[in-house]
Amino acid sequence: MLYLTPPEDLASLWPDEPEYRADQLRGWLYETPVLRTEDMTNLPVELRSALELWPFTVETEQVGDSGRTVKWLMRAPDGASIEAVLMGYPRRTTLCISSQAGCAMACTFCATGQFGFERHLQAGEIVAQVAYAAAYLRLTGLGKSPERITNLVFMGMGEPLANYASVRTAIDRFTGVMGLSARSITVSTVGVAPAIRRLASEAWRVNLAVSLHAADDELRTRLVPLNRQYPLDEVIAATEYFVAETGRRASIEWTLIADTNDTPEQADKLAVIARRLRAHINVIALNPTPLTADRPPTAANARAFIDRLTRAGANVTLRDTRGQGIDAACGQLRARKLPVGS
Ligand code: SAH
Repeated sequence: MLYLTPPEDLASLWPDEPEYRADQLRGWLYETPVLRTEDMTNLPVELRSALELWPFTVETEQVGDSGRTVKWLMRAPDGASIEAVLMGYPRRTTLCISSQAGCAMACTFCATGQFGFERHLQAGEIVAQVAYAAAYLRLTGLGKSPERITNLVFMGMGEPLANYASVRTAIDRFTGVMGLSARSITVSTVGVAPAIRRLASEAWRVNLAVSLHAADDELRTRLVPLNRQYPLDEVIAATEYFVAETGRRASIEWTLIADTNDTPEQADKLAVIARRLRAHINVIALNPTPLTADRPPTAANARAFIDRLTRAGANVTLRDTRGQGIDAACGQLRARKLPVGS
């Protein structure tokens, strides 16, 4: 797999070719990526036609939100599904990528969690999602949005900090040969406390998003089973450590569910945590998923929750939900391995 080969080892693909061939290939993979090997115009035809560019085939490409959101379902040769979503805004283009096929965390309200874990993605499969989207953007564009990826978020399928080694190698590539700034990358986690601490020691300093969803252990354990292993205090302490070590801000993600975590009590407790961490809170109304009866709150209840947080001195934004029409919204990614022969 080309994207799994460290860029400095590409020369070993073609031992009999001059060295500049590897540099040319590196350019087509990481700097000005192309969708097809035919477009690697400065490489001899025999060389490019022997290359397998993508570690997946793109099974579907769906466009939503009047052309401002694109979702890809990519399929690895073993049948594992990989999903990525590209979202265009007036001044930024955000790519949401997957770190695992499926997810083992089993958060009750998340479709990926409801359908279980398939396997970890390899670093090359994570990098290739970004290269594919970058090539698409360069060649096709996304309305009036920037034609390069300005924000990269690990908020697709999977728990990135449960696949640490691959995620780390991928971020090395993003911040190295691909030239993305660590400030433009956000790792979102459900709260794998030891891995949050480890992330603080990396040479690059990415942004951290912590998916909290509940401000006490009783409710959090119900929504996020991992809370049994790493309870709220440990997640908060690890986040505090990350912020102190890196000088980066953390954000708190809060999926708002009617009659569950949208109460004044939760808002008050959340405000205390957010102030302690000096974290920004991103509230997103639940995107309904097939296997639970959970519902999003009414607009008025969402407003009341936000207002209460604001009055308590917290920084909070109500996020819009992109991609609902194409099952591309937060928590809706869940394509499964196809049965053989289908
Ligand atoms: N495992 C990581 C990253 C993937 S989930 C994490 O938990 O952070 C990305 C974000 O989508 C998380 O904040 C998650 O809580 C949120 N999310 C999951 N299901 C959702 C749903 N049905 N509606 C809205 N947001 C959801």
